[in-house]
Amino acid sequence: MKSYFGKFGGQFVPETLMPSLLELEKAYERFKKNESMQAELKKLQRDFIGRPTSLYFAERMSKATGQKIYLKREDLAHTGAHKINNAIGQGLLAKFMGKSRIIAETGAGQHGVATAAACAKLGLECVVYMGEVDMERQQPNVIRMRLLGAKVVPVTSGSRTLKDAINEAIRDWITNIETTHYMIGSVLGPHPYPTIVRDFQAVIGREARSQILSSEGRLPDYLVACVGGGSNSVGLFHQFINDSKVKMIGVEAGGYGIRSGKHAARFAGGREGILHGTKSFVLQNADGQITETHSISAGLDYPSIGPEHVFLRELGRIKYVSATDEEALSAFRYLSETEGIIPALESAHAVAYALKLAKKLPNKKLIIINLSGRGDKDLPEMEKGLKI
Ligand SMILES: *Cc1c(COP(=O)(O)O)cnc(C)c1O
Repeated sequence: MKSYFGKFGGQFVPETLMPSLLELEKAYERFKKNESMQAELKKLQRDFIGRPTSLYFAERMSKATGQKIYLKREDLAHTGAHKINNAIGQGLLAKFMGKSRIIAETGAGQHGVATAAACAKLGLECVVYMGEVDMERQQPNVIRMRLLGAKVVPVTSGSRTLKDAINEAIRDWITNIETTHYMIGSVLGPHPYPTIVRDFQAVIGREARSQILSSEGRLPDYLVACVGGGSNSVGLFHQFINDSKVKMIGVEAGGYGIRSGKHAARFAGGREGILHGTKSFVLQNADGQITETHSISAGLDYPSIGPEHVFLRELGRIKYVSATDEEALSAFRYLSETEGIIPALESAHAVAYALKLAKKLPNKKLIIINLSGRGDKDLPEMEKGLKI
């Protein structure tokens, strides 16, 4: 398995973690070839997650824009987003490796909830590190995780948010390496995580490809997905990488606008750097200190991006744009009122850009938007933003 995507990725970790990364890589190679494991994964995807998720024709949105727009409905996956695809996959892999304990870290709580659900299902002990500030902001998800049997550990160091929770999880992993698997939630971290997470999310694109072929008899013209760490987007895109006619667009969080400096658009404001074990594009100041990011959606609010994205962008295969908080809010409302679907604020960024794109294109282009999650979790934010 390659540990780099071009010159991005790699393993920038303390020496003590190297044996575990190697063990994980070896186990994953065996897991991929193990027929009973693959059968078990398929069964869980179908019965527990509810796959395949539908590829839904957005009729009113299509009529209004003159295009043919489809939504890949990851919001219908169990626990409300695509994150469960990876959590179930890694949970199964951990069991295969003989690990009995899972640790994870979470910001908004979506990955924490997916991890807790997967662990409950698979009978694994689950510990989730979460910054104290995030625990206050995301109270309902803390309750969900605890109901699902996870231990949620408040992190009180530093800014008491996601990056401090990551540091704490790494400390735990080093201490308990024999029994414990560290479940990373996006295509981030040291090799082999970006590859493993991508593979578990690639089910999205495999389904979407066969679904669009059966409903339209041809491949789409455009794929549009939001990009936090980059797992739902690469999950959709991966199966289409070799179809050079299919254009792919990743939408980053533009926050208050690129010029404000308050955003999480790594490709607009970042440069090459290393964060949390991987070489990628990072939002940083002139001295290489990580800069504060801002997005209305917690799931897109991270200063780095999966290394494979940087590589695919260099190849010119994927184009990256951004949508602001305001654009996402308006798309959130638009989709709710036009299609009867309340999207996650993260997904609303993809909808916002797709709407803009649809207005510029000649008619009857086939567009698939990845609807990475549902919006119930965002209702408190929405109340502030939309003045409902
Ligand atoms: C976590 C999350 C994201 C962002 O993460 P990616 O790894 O970029 O997919 C997007 N949408 C939803 C609903 C999320 O929960």
